[in-house]
Parts: sequence; C-alpha cells; structure tokens
Amino acid sequence: PAPTIDFAAVIRTIPDYPKPGIMFRDVTSLLADPAAFRAAVDAMVAPYAEMGVAMVAGIEARGFILGGAISHQLAAGFVPIRKKGKLPLATIRVAYSLEYGVDEMEVHRDALTPGTRVLITDDLIATGGTAEAAVKLLRELGAEIVGACFVVDLPEVGGRQKLEALGVPVKALVAYQ
Ligand code: 5GP
Repeated sequence: PAPTIDFAAVIRTIPDYPKPGIMFRDVTSLLADPAAFRAAVDAMVAPYAEMGVAMVAGIEARGFILGGAISHQLAAGFVPIRKKGKLPLATIRVAYSLEYGVDEMEVHRDALTPGTRVLITDDLIATGGTAEAAVKLLRELGAEIVGACFVVDLPEVGGRQKLEALGVPVKALVAYQ
C-alpha cells in the first residue's frame, strides 16, 4: 500500500515572500520529495480517473510540472496556459488581475477542439484570478471544463468560490487558513 503522506508537512512556508506580510507556500520542497511528489500526483489524479479527461491544462509555471505528471497518469494530452509572448503560433489572450496591476495569459488558438474535456491544474489557488483566466481561455476554445485541481487552496481568499461560481468544481490536497 502507498504510504500516507502529510502534504502540509512537506510544503515549506516562507514568511514575507515576495513581500512583507505574505506567507508563501513553497511546493518545491514537495516536488523534491520522491514519495510526496508521487503521492500528491496520485491523489490529484484519483478523482478524475473515470471522468473522461482528454486534456490537462497546466498554468505556467508550476502547473506545468504537475500537469505533465497528471496528463501522463490520465493518458491525456497537455496544453500549456502561458504568460503572454511565449507561444509561437496564433493565440487568444485574456487579461487578469495581479495584486498590483494586470497581466495577460494566452493559449494557442488550435490547442483543442470544441467539446474537449479539460482538467485545469496549478500548484496553488489563492484569489482564483489566475485560474479564472485559464477557464475563460479554455471556454473560448469550446472546452468542457471537468474541474480544477491544486496542491494548495487558500480558502480565505475566495478562489475556490470564484471558480465554483463559474461551474468549475475545485479540488485541493491541502488548505491553509
Ligand atoms: P491567484 O490568481 O489564485 O490569486 O494566485 C494563484 C497563482 O499565484 C498561482 O499561479 C500560484 O502559483 C501563485 N501563487 C500565489 N501565492 C502563492 C504561494 O503562496 N505559493 C505558491 N507556490 N504560489 C503562489
């Protein structure tokens, strides 16, 4: 049987990064732990094993690491949701809010065909602004979004509610207050 892993215990918390007052949840320590990384991917995949996921959409950059492993496990394709200016072919773009100002993310126009069942992933959901931008991009391409999965949820910031209000069920391995 697979070992039981305390995911919260292998995620480091860095106080005052990137700014004073922010508690940064650093998942690189989980990724570096072979048993924890494997168990995290297994736990993220399990709810979607029978959900007919055809594509995993990973959000740059830590969503690529998780999304690669998840798509392999689900025998699904992978589509990168990238910060603007990184993709070589025609894209669609969406602006999203950061704490200060806005940025844009994009996806290739031909990344998927309408009706494709897509699972979104990233390391962490806070306000949900980043994941919401991914939902908009993928829906513009006609995707049917099956859900969104994260290692960490920060429920007090409201991201889960924001996505669920858009009709996207959210799962996370760990929640921090
Ligand atoms: P949101 O758009 O939900 O407010 O922020 C989530 C995005 O910012 C994700 O792409 C995530 O990687 C990054 N992020 C915000 N706060 C943290 C944090 O404490 N730890 C990590 N690892 N990523 C964070």
